[in-house]
Amino acid sequence: MTDHPQETSRAHALDELLPPLSRNEAAVEAARCLMCFDAPCTHACPTHIDIPKFIKKIATGNLRGSARTILESNLLGATCSRVCPVQELCEGACVLTSEHKPIAIGRLQRHAMDFAYGKGLNLFQPAKATDKKVAIIGAGPAGLSCAGELAKLGHAVTLFEKRTLAGGLSTYGIIGLREPMEVALAEAAMIEKLGVKIEAGKKLGAEITLADLQANFDAVFLSVGLGATPSLGIPGEEHILDGLEYVEQSKLDAANLAIGRNVLVIGAGNTAIDCATIAKRLGASQVTIVYRRTENEMTAYAHEYDFVKREGVNFRFLTQPVRVHAENGSVKSLECLRMSLGTADASGRPSPQPVAGSEFFLSADQIVRAIGQHKPSLASLLKLKTEKGFIQVNANFETSSTGVFAGGDCIRARGAASTVMAVQDGKLAARSIHERLVSNG
Ligand SMILES: Cc1cc2nc3c(=O)[nH]c(=O)nc-3n(C[C@H](O)[C@H](O)[C@H](O)COP(=O)(O)OP(=O)(O)OC[C@H]3O[C@@H](n4cnc5c(N)ncnc54)[C@H](O)[C@@H]3O)c2cc1C
Ligand code: SF4
Repeated sequence: MTDHPQETSRAHALDELLPPLSRNEAAVEAARCLMCFDAPCTHACPTHIDIPKFIKKIATGNLRGSARTILESNLLGATCSRVCPVQELCEGACVLTSEHKPIAIGRLQRHAMDFAYGKGLNLFQPAKATDKKVAIIGAGPAGLSCAGELAKLGHAVTLFEKRTLAGGLSTYGIIGLREPMEVALAEAAMIEKLGVKIEAGKKLGAEITLADLQANFDAVFLSVGLGATPSLGIPGEEHILDGLEYVEQSKLDAANLAIGRNVLVIGAGNTAIDCATIAKRLGASQVTIVYRRTENEMTAYAHEYDFVKREGVNFRFLTQPVRVHAENGSVKSLECLRMSLGTADASGRPSPQPVAGSEFFLSADQIVRAIGQHKPSLASLLKLKTEKGFIQVNANFETSSTGVFAGGDCIRARGAASTVMAVQDGKLAARSIHERLVSNG
């Protein structure tokens, strides 16, 4: 029996956006690279992949060598080739930017990674086993990166993950059209092949305690990411859907994700953009992002803002939700206030101030809340020092508890959270942990 055409198109509405490059397209694009000395693209990559080197290997048909070059600096090269804001990083720094088109570094990286995963290549072997054991908590990009690097050095690594699947937000949180779940799961499987033991369904603070870990392992790395979406604290909030759950269901079971006809998405960061795209692509006729500041203060990347506008998503700036109106459990409208911008607040952005008497209503039959994530609650549970609510670490990624290291979103007190930064934290923390284990003998 064939699927109903509408169901088939819904099932594919969130398929990966960019097609892979053919071998010929990749070779032609690689041949354009000037192979710059002291390449600015490599400096701009937070994991410092030797970009001209991996591109040269593509140009000469050595895809295995190209993949190895990428993975030497970034074990999650397949994810990063898809989700990295390349316009702001490597491609933004390419010398060909101003006069010509920058080299499509992200798509070339994906080409080499797809080759390695397609062939099931094992590019690294663990070093001779040490007798040191490391526990890692959280199998997102930071945890997987740290685990893989430590395994390559011969340490015995156990990765505890509270969810059923590894990959963190790459698996559950980043919209499928940018990163299909299979890519994140294949990467986690590659880390397991390096000898890392992943124990899923084990939560620190429930099934395991820090004291257990400290007693049984030589070091601990916390890579627990951030928490759930905070609430808005407005009447009728129970009718608002959680943005992270909305994205997650679109990845796990898009066919059964109920989509409104007239959808409002509250927030203006990554999650809001992804929720609005999902609603639009899965059938909403009208989708509007509601944000209390202006486009100048949005935390979403400029290219994502452009993308979602091209998808047909509307924006209501300087708009603060104050109450949800529902009848018989169904959302009817969102009552809002107009805002004006005042002086800078703690975030450094102008603070939105309500305009008295400016109440108005936006009609809607579905409202999604996408206003960021809570700070990591584990910090206070484990009695670790914090900075702005994030786990505090020193230059070696060590927390206030000796032998307990941390990295990724859970320490990102400054700068924007991103996958590639989490991968780099994991890699650098692995080096610090290794030095500690070696110096402890
Ligand atoms: C909707 C959305 C879209 C995004 N899009 C992009 C993008 O396009 N590009 C980009 O670069 N970045 C993007 N990001 C940010 C990026 O996903 C994160 O910066 C990155 O995943 C951080 O990695 P991490 O390993 O620190 O944390 P996470 O990916 O959050 O992983 C943390 C892991 O720890 C586990 N865990 C938590 N607590 C415990 C516990 N107590 N015990 C055991 N396990 C635990 C979690 O289940 C999870 O698997 C996006 C984020 C969101 C929410
Ligand atoms: S800056 Fe551009 S041209 Fe130069 S090495 Fe990097 S990708 Fe190639």
